[in-house]
Amino acid sequence: MAARLLNGNAIRDQILSELRAEVAGMTAAGCRPGLAAVLAGQNPASEVYVRNKIKACESVGIYSEKITPPETVSTQQMLDLVSQLNARDEIDGILVQLPLPAQVDSKRVLLAVDPAKDVDGFHPFNIGLLVTQRPGLVACTPAGIMEILKRSHIPVSGRRAVVLGRSDIVGKPVAFLLLHENATVTICHSRTENLAAIAREADILIAAIGRPAMVTRDFIRPGATVIDVGTNRLDNAADVERIFAGMPSKIEQFREKGSLLVGDVHPVDVVETAGAYTPVPGGVGPLTISMLMANTVKAARLRRGGCGVLRP
Ligand code: NDP
Repeated sequence: MAARLLNGNAIRDQILSELRAEVAGMTAAGCRPGLAAVLAGQNPASEVYVRNKIKACESVGIYSEKITPPETVSTQQMLDLVSQLNARDEIDGILVQLPLPAQVDSKRVLLAVDPAKDVDGFHPFNIGLLVTQRPGLVACTPAGIMEILKRSHIPVSGRRAVVLGRSDIVGKPVAFLLLHENATVTICHSRTENLAAIAREADILIAAIGRPAMVTRDFIRPGATVIDVGTNRLDNAADVERIFAGMPSKIEQFREKGSLLVGDVHPVDVVETAGAYTPVPGGVGPLTISMLMANTVKAARLRRGGCGVLRP
């Protein structure tokens, strides 16, 4: 039987519509959440990301502001800008779009963001809150993965979860979130031995390694839930034909566009082996922006003390 598809677009829409109602209530209570996006220099991909984030703000009613320092901006100028945004009460979230121009010390700039406004959840202070299970801002992609599991009624407590990847922005935080939901968690990385055998123990397998279609059927326990975070662009016809053999519509799509997105999980093997899975695109990706919106609302509530009725 083919695996159940976990539709990230539908879950994103559900979250955005809940947030729309919540933001309307907060705005009526004089507490409209606000997000500032800092887009330094000219990077076409970053421009698209920031545009989509601003559009999402507009769609849920969050106040947004785009600040665009020039390509020549210095570290000090970025630090001054962040400090002004930290001080503004109507700004609840500060998003510094990466990468910053080469001359800017990105780590210093990110550390300067007030943790209470760190809607990306990357600040070490927020990581500490996450690890110690205190209320704080959690990185958007890991938080989105947990929403997918919760809203798809996939049981986590007592289950074996295996996380492939140990990055600070995906692997580690999602492992802690799963642990806090009482999963028994194993984290794997590039030095893990017998990777496929360990992955095969998982009831819930999270793949966040950035290796196109590396997770094949021998990694997947039949019936497991597989969450594919990987977003890899293929531009080589031989790779596309090998990975998507038996999926003529994908090969056609590649011929039209010249490239194709694939996750870390093999798109055919997962459908034939897993119990449920997130596709790429249309799985984890769409959740990232909706969780950024949710974090902005949460930041407003945590910082401004409630802001009306709390979400259940
Ligand atoms: P990183 O490159 O920061 O981390 C990759 C991790 O995978 C590392 O821990 C690395 O191990 C491990 N790894 C790499 N190769 C192997 C291998 N062959 N076997 C086992 N482990 C391996 O990546 P990110 O966490 O930032 O992102 C992972 C993927 O998720 C990427 O494809 C990225 O594009 C995507 N992504 C998607 C998002 C979305 O919204 N959908 C958001 C964020 C990321 P080691 O530590 O030993 O080097």
